[in-house]
Amino acid sequence: MAGLEGKVTVVTGAASGIGRAVAERLAVEGMHVVGVDLRAEGHVTVQADLTTREGNRQAIDAALEAHGRIDVVVPNAGVQHVSPVAEFSEDRWDQLTSLLLTSPFLLAKYAWPSLVKTGGRYVAIASIHGVVASPFKSAYIASKHGVLGLVKVLALEGAPDGVTATAVCPGYVRTPLVENQIADQAKAHGVSEDRVLEEIILAPHAVKRLVEPAEVADAVVWLLGPAGRTMTGAPLIMDQGWSAR
Ligand code: NAD
Repeated sequence: MAGLEGKVTVVTGAASGIGRAVAERLAVEGMHVVGVDLRAEGHVTVQADLTTREGNRQAIDAALEAHGRIDVVVPNAGVQHVSPVAEFSEDRWDQLTSLLLTSPFLLAKYAWPSLVKTGGRYVAIASIHGVVASPFKSAYIASKHGVLGLVKVLALEGAPDGVTATAVCPGYVRTPLVENQIADQAKAHGVSEDRVLEEIILAPHAVKRLVEPAEVADAVVWLLGPAGRTMTGAPLIMDQGWSAR
Protein backbone atom coordinates (compact mmCIF):
# COMPACT_ATOMS: atom_id res chain seq x y z
CA MET A 1 0.00 0.00 0.00
CA ALA A 2 1.88 3.07 -1.23
CA GLY A 3 0.58 6.50 -0.19
CA LEU A 4 -2.48 6.83 2.01
CA GLU A 5 -4.32 9.59 0.15
CA GLY A 6 -7.83 8.59 -0.92
CA LYS A 7 -7.76 5.24 0.87
CA VAL A 8 -10.65 4.26 3.13
CA THR A 9 -10.20 3.31 6.78
CA VAL A 10 -12.54 2.23 9.55
CA VAL A 11 -11.31 3.28 13.01
CA THR A 12 -13.31 2.24 16.08
CA GLY A 13 -13.35 4.11 19.36
CA ALA A 14 -12.78 7.34 17.40
CA ALA A 15 -14.48 9.60 19.98
CA SER A 16 -11.62 9.57 22.47
CA GLY A 17 -8.01 8.81 23.29
CA ILE A 18 -6.00 6.66 20.90
CA GLY A 19 -8.81 6.10 18.39
CA ARG A 20 -9.44 9.81 18.11
CA ALA A 21 -5.72 10.55 17.63
CA VAL A 22 -5.41 7.80 14.99
CA ALA A 23 -8.56 8.94 13.14
CA GLU A 24 -7.46 12.57 13.12
CA ARG A 25 -3.95 11.67 11.94
CA LEU A 26 -5.17 9.39 9.14
CA ALA A 27 -7.52 12.15 7.96
CA VAL A 28 -4.50 14.52 7.84
CA GLU A 29 -2.73 11.88 5.72
CA GLY A 30 -5.62 12.22 3.22
CA MET A 31 -7.54 9.05 4.06
CA HIS A 32 -11.33 8.81 4.13
CA VAL A 33 -11.89 7.98 7.80
CA VAL A 34 -15.04 6.23 8.98
CA GLY A 35 -14.88 6.77 12.73
CA VAL A 36 -17.11 4.51 14.83
CA ASP A 37 -18.05 4.90 18.48
CA LEU A 38 -20.92 4.70 20.97
CA ARG A 39 -20.57 8.46 21.36
CA ALA A 40 -20.96 11.08 18.62
CA GLU A 41 -17.83 13.02 19.61
CA GLY A 42 -14.34 13.45 18.20
CA HIS A 43 -13.87 11.91 14.77
CA VAL A 44 -17.10 9.85 14.74
CA THR A 45 -19.26 9.38 11.65
CA VAL A 46 -21.06 6.19 12.72
CA GLN A 47 -22.64 5.72 16.13
CA ALA A 48 -22.77 2.01 16.95
CA ASP A 49 -22.48 -0.37 19.89
CA LEU A 50 -19.55 -2.63 19.01
CA THR A 51 -20.45 -5.18 21.69
CA THR A 52 -23.18 -6.32 19.24
CA ARG A 53 -22.99 -8.09 15.88
CA GLU A 54 -25.34 -5.47 14.42
CA GLY A 55 -23.07 -2.62 15.53
CA ASN A 56 -20.02 -4.16 13.87
CA ARG A 57 -22.01 -4.88 10.70
CA GLN A 58 -23.30 -1.29 10.71
CA ALA A 59 -19.71 0.05 10.90
CA ILE A 60 -18.48 -1.92 7.89
CA ASP A 61 -21.68 -1.38 5.85
CA ALA A 62 -21.47 2.39 6.44
CA ALA A 63 -17.92 2.48 5.07
CA LEU A 64 -18.83 0.39 2.02
CA GLU A 65 -21.96 2.45 1.32
CA ALA A 66 -20.09 5.75 1.60
CA HIS A 67 -16.90 4.79 -0.25
CA GLY A 68 -17.42 1.42 -1.99
CA ARG A 69 -14.21 -0.08 -0.55
CA ILE A 70 -12.22 -0.57 2.64
CA ASP A 71 -8.40 -0.44 2.62
CA VAL A 72 -7.67 -0.38 6.35
CA VAL A 73 -9.42 -1.56 9.53
CA VAL A 74 -8.26 -0.30 12.92
CA PRO A 75 -10.16 -2.09 15.73
CA ASN A 76 -9.44 0.07 18.75
CA ALA A 77 -12.57 0.65 20.89
CA GLY A 78 -12.04 -0.55 24.43
CA VAL A 79 -12.98 -0.36 28.08
CA GLN A 80 -11.29 -1.65 31.22
CA HIS A 81 -12.69 -3.34 34.32
CA VAL A 82 -10.52 -3.87 37.39
CA SER A 83 -11.56 -6.59 39.84
CA PRO A 84 -10.12 -9.73 41.44
CA VAL A 85 -11.17 -12.84 39.53
CA ALA A 86 -13.39 -14.25 42.30
CA GLU A 87 -15.46 -11.04 42.29
CA PHE A 88 -15.26 -10.34 38.55
CA SER A 89 -18.79 -9.65 37.26
CA GLU A 90 -19.79 -12.20 34.62
CA ASP A 91 -21.74 -9.51 32.75
CA ARG A 92 -18.64 -7.31 32.64
CA TRP A 93 -16.62 -10.31 31.37
CA ASP A 94 -19.13 -10.72 28.51
CA GLN A 95 -19.09 -6.99 27.75
CA LEU A 96 -15.27 -6.72 27.69
CA THR A 97 -14.69 -9.86 25.64
CA SER A 98 -17.41 -8.76 23.16
CA LEU A 99 -15.80 -5.36 22.66
CA LEU A 100 -12.11 -6.26 22.92
CA LEU A 101 -12.01 -9.63 21.15
CA THR A 102 -15.27 -10.40 19.30
CA SER A 103 -15.52 -6.94 17.71
CA PRO A 104 -12.02 -7.21 16.14
CA PHE A 105 -13.04 -10.63 14.76
CA LEU A 106 -16.39 -9.38 13.39
CA LEU A 107 -14.79 -6.29 11.79
CA ALA A 108 -12.23 -8.55 10.08
CA LYS A 109 -14.92 -10.99 8.96
CA TYR A 110 -17.26 -8.36 7.54
CA ALA A 111 -14.49 -6.28 5.91
CA TRP A 112 -12.53 -9.28 4.60
CA PRO A 113 -13.94 -9.45 1.03
CA SER A 114 -13.04 -5.78 0.58
CA LEU A 115 -9.60 -6.11 2.22
CA VAL A 116 -8.82 -9.01 -0.14
CA LYS A 117 -9.76 -6.84 -3.14
CA THR A 118 -7.68 -3.86 -1.97
CA GLY A 119 -4.71 -5.82 -0.54
CA GLY A 120 -5.59 -4.02 2.66
CA ARG A 121 -4.15 -3.71 6.14
CA TYR A 122 -5.63 -4.66 9.49
CA VAL A 123 -4.02 -2.88 12.45
CA ALA A 124 -5.59 -3.73 15.81
CA ILE A 125 -4.80 -1.57 18.79
CA ALA A 126 -4.07 -4.33 21.30
CA SER A 127 -1.87 -3.62 24.35
CA ILE A 128 1.28 -4.79 26.06
CA HIS A 129 -1.38 -6.67 28.05
CA GLY A 130 -1.61 -8.89 24.96
CA VAL A 131 1.90 -10.10 25.84
CA VAL A 132 2.19 -9.84 29.64
CA ALA A 133 -0.36 -9.93 32.47
CA SER A 134 -1.21 -7.86 35.53
CA PRO A 135 -3.57 -8.81 38.36
CA PHE A 136 -7.27 -7.82 38.48
CA LYS A 137 -7.75 -7.45 34.69
CA SER A 138 -8.74 -10.97 33.62
CA ALA A 139 -11.21 -10.09 30.84
CA TYR A 140 -9.02 -7.36 29.34
CA ILE A 141 -5.85 -9.41 29.34
CA ALA A 142 -7.49 -12.59 28.05
CA SER A 143 -9.04 -10.55 25.21
CA LYS A 144 -5.82 -8.74 24.28
CA HIS A 145 -3.90 -12.04 24.18
CA GLY A 146 -6.72 -13.29 21.94
CA VAL A 147 -6.29 -10.34 19.56
CA LEU A 148 -2.62 -11.28 19.06
CA GLY A 149 -3.75 -14.80 18.15
CA LEU A 150 -6.38 -13.38 15.80
CA VAL A 151 -3.86 -11.26 13.87
CA LYS A 152 -1.61 -14.30 13.41
CA VAL A 153 -4.49 -16.16 11.76
CA LEU A 154 -5.48 -13.14 9.64
CA ALA A 155 -1.85 -12.75 8.54
CA LEU A 156 -1.71 -16.36 7.34
CA GLU A 157 -5.10 -16.22 5.63
CA GLY A 158 -4.41 -12.80 4.09
CA ALA A 159 -0.87 -13.47 2.82
CA PRO A 160 -1.86 -14.87 -0.61
CA ASP A 161 -3.95 -11.73 -1.29
CA GLY A 162 -1.50 -9.16 0.08
CA VAL A 163 -3.53 -8.45 3.23
CA THR A 164 -1.39 -7.78 6.31
CA ALA A 165 -2.51 -7.99 9.96
CA THR A 166 -0.71 -6.61 12.98
CA ALA A 167 -1.42 -5.45 16.51
CA VAL A 168 0.05 -2.35 18.15
CA CYS A 169 0.93 -3.06 21.78
CA PRO A 170 1.51 0.10 23.81
CA GLY A 171 2.31 0.39 27.48
CA TYR A 172 0.17 2.90 29.37
CA VAL A 173 -1.08 5.76 27.18
CA ARG A 174 -2.30 9.15 28.40
CA THR A 175 -6.08 8.70 27.74
CA PRO A 176 -9.34 8.72 29.73
CA LEU A 177 -9.16 4.90 29.90
CA VAL A 178 -6.07 5.20 32.11
CA GLU A 179 -7.23 8.28 34.00
CA ASN A 180 -10.51 6.51 34.85
CA GLN A 181 -8.81 3.47 36.40
CA ILE A 182 -6.85 5.42 38.97
CA ALA A 183 -9.65 5.25 41.59
CA ASP A 184 -10.27 1.52 40.98
CA GLN A 185 -6.55 0.74 41.13
CA ALA A 186 -6.21 2.71 44.36
CA LYS A 187 -8.96 0.58 45.93
CA ALA A 188 -7.66 -2.76 44.59
CA HIS A 189 -4.06 -2.10 45.72
CA GLY A 190 -4.92 -0.22 48.92
CA VAL A 191 -2.93 2.94 48.10
CA SER A 192 -4.01 6.57 47.71
CA GLU A 193 -5.01 7.84 44.26
CA ASP A 194 -2.09 10.27 43.98
CA ARG A 195 0.38 7.40 44.39
CA VAL A 196 -1.32 5.18 41.80
CA LEU A 197 0.22 6.77 38.68
CA GLU A 198 3.81 6.55 39.87
CA GLU A 199 3.73 3.41 42.02
CA ILE A 200 1.15 1.24 40.23
CA ILE A 201 0.52 2.45 36.71
CA LEU A 202 4.08 3.37 35.71
CA ALA A 203 5.71 0.74 37.93
CA PRO A 204 6.15 -1.79 35.09
CA HIS A 205 7.53 0.82 32.63
CA ALA A 206 11.34 0.93 32.54
CA VAL A 207 10.90 4.48 31.19
CA LYS A 208 8.66 6.34 33.65
CA ARG A 209 6.42 8.22 31.26
CA LEU A 210 3.07 7.55 29.63
CA VAL A 211 2.96 6.90 25.89
CA GLU A 212 1.14 9.74 24.07
CA PRO A 213 -1.84 9.01 21.78
CA ALA A 214 -0.04 10.85 18.95
CA GLU A 215 2.88 8.40 19.26
CA VAL A 216 0.49 5.48 18.73
CA ALA A 217 -0.94 7.31 15.70
CA ASP A 218 2.63 7.68 14.34
CA ALA A 219 3.12 3.91 14.69
CA VAL A 220 -0.12 3.23 12.80
CA VAL A 221 0.96 5.55 9.96
CA TRP A 222 4.30 3.71 9.78
CA LEU A 223 2.50 0.35 9.64
CA LEU A 224 0.31 1.62 6.79
CA GLY A 225 3.29 3.00 4.86
CA PRO A 226 5.80 1.19 2.63
CA ALA A 227 7.95 -0.19 5.48
CA GLY A 228 4.84 -1.60 7.15
CA ARG A 229 4.60 -4.23 4.39
CA THR A 230 7.14 -6.26 6.34
CA MET A 231 4.90 -6.40 9.41
CA THR A 232 2.34 -9.17 9.42
CA GLY A 233 1.34 -11.71 12.04
CA ALA A 234 3.48 -9.96 14.65
CA PRO A 235 2.85 -7.31 17.29
CA LEU A 236 4.46 -3.87 17.26
CA ILE A 237 5.48 -3.40 20.89
CA MET A 238 5.82 0.18 22.18
CA ASP A 239 5.85 -0.42 25.91
CA GLN A 240 8.58 1.83 27.38
CA GLY A 241 10.65 -1.25 28.21
CA TRP A 242 7.90 -3.04 30.18
CA SER A 243 8.37 -6.46 28.53
CA ALA A 244 12.18 -6.24 28.65
CA ARG A 245 12.08 -7.21 32.32
P1 NAD B 1 -10.69 5.77 25.66
O1 NAD B 1 -11.56 5.45 26.81
O2 NAD B 1 -10.06 7.11 25.58
O3 NAD B 1 -11.46 5.51 24.29
C1 NAD B 1 -12.17 4.32 24.07
C2 NAD B 1 -13.33 4.62 23.14
O4 NAD B 1 -14.07 3.39 22.93
C3 NAD B 1 -14.31 5.65 23.72
O5 NAD B 1 -14.52 6.71 22.80
C4 NAD B 1 -15.58 4.83 23.95
O6 NAD B 1 -16.78 5.57 23.77
C5 NAD B 1 -15.44 3.74 22.91
N1 NAD B 1 -16.30 2.60 23.25
C6 NAD B 1 -16.42 2.01 24.48
N2 NAD B 1 -17.35 1.05 24.42
C7 NAD B 1 -17.83 1.02 23.14
C8 NAD B 1 -18.82 0.25 22.49
N3 NAD B 1 -19.52 -0.69 23.12
N4 NAD B 1 -19.05 0.50 21.19
C9 NAD B 1 -18.37 1.48 20.53
N5 NAD B 1 -17.42 2.24 21.10
C10 NAD B 1 -17.15 2.02 22.40
O7 NAD B 1 -9.59 4.60 25.64
P2 NAD B 1 -8.13 4.51 24.98
O8 NAD B 1 -7.16 4.52 26.07
O9 NAD B 1 -7.98 5.43 23.84
O10 NAD B 1 -8.17 3.00 24.46
C11 NAD B 1 -8.29 2.66 23.09
C12 NAD B 1 -7.71 1.26 22.87
O11 NAD B 1 -6.32 1.28 23.21
C13 NAD B 1 -8.36 0.19 23.73
O12 NAD B 1 -8.54 -0.99 22.98
C14 NAD B 1 -7.34 -0.04 24.81
O13 NAD B 1 -7.40 -1.33 25.33
C15 NAD B 1 -6.05 0.20 24.06
N6 NAD B 1 -4.92 0.52 24.93
C16 NAD B 1 -4.97 1.59 25.78
C17 NAD B 1 -3.89 1.85 26.59
C18 NAD B 1 -3.89 2.99 27.56
O14 NAD B 1 -3.02 3.01 28.42
N7 NAD B 1 -4.79 3.96 27.43
C19 NAD B 1 -2.75 1.04 26.54
C20 NAD B 1 -2.72 -0.02 25.66
C21 NAD B 1 -3.81 -0.27 24.85
